[in-house]
Amino acid sequence: MRLTFLGTGTSTGVPTLGCHCAVCRSSDPHDQRTRPSLLLEYDGRVVVIDTSPDFRQQALRQELRRLDAVVFTHDHADHILGLDDVRVFYFRQKVPIPIYADERTMASIRRVYKYIFDQDYPYGGLAKLDPHLIDGPFELWGAELVPLPIFHGDLPVLGFRFGRCAYLTDFSSIPDPTLPLLEGLDVLILDALRHKPHPSHSTVEQSLAWVDRLKPERAFFTHIAHELSHEATNATLPPQVRLAYDGLSLDV
Ligand SMILES: [Zn+2]
Ligand SMILES: [Zn+2]
Repeated sequence: MRLTFLGTGTSTGVPTLGCHCAVCRSSDPHDQRTRPSLLLEYDGRVVVIDTSPDFRQQALRQELRRLDAVVFTHDHADHILGLDDVRVFYFRQKVPIPIYADERTMASIRRVYKYIFDQDYPYGGLAKLDPHLIDGPFELWGAELVPLPIFHGDLPVLGFRFGRCAYLTDFSSIPDPTLPLLEGLDVLILDALRHKPHPSHSTVEQSLAWVDRLKPERAFFTHIAHELSHEATNATLPPQVRLAYDGLSLDV
């Protein structure tokens, strides 16, 4: 399986609109971060985790030729507002695009994208989606995805484990029953917003503590704000931990 970081930025993206800080003005392409999303490619299948508002640009950058499914972690704007753009893959493939979400997130997606679910938009050009509720591990073309309940502030959201990799975007705490599901990882991808504490995101220091505790072979930080310079921050991290960046691919 090949994993590609479609986006590694926090909800505002980096550069942040109107900001003239050193990271927002940086000429290092690693400091340009679109909204968070992960691409999984295996056996000719293409699955994305979350459709950020930058999904279209991300799909152009990665030259996505097809899309087989979308899996959602939660319903915040930076994770769902690109969903309309999956319609071109529906037009090409002529099969409704399967989407997977827990009950709360699916209800939210149905509300935001009411025009897609009702198919009552008289101007044409509508996606067709095939909704599936996540209520336990599920299989997508031979790959098992295990939902990982975590907390984003007080909001219950999902991470996912696939094989020996796990993706935990947007979290501030990991409840005890989820911890055994994070054992024996080759790759752990996790939220590390910035250094300053935040009520609903893990910081660099907190995420380093999770890496110490969970002991994955490698860890990649994502959902990164403009407080963190790619190069300067990487220089402070242990060698098995790196900031991810847009377009980074890992064969796992
Ligand atoms: Zn987010
Ligand atoms: Zn800035």
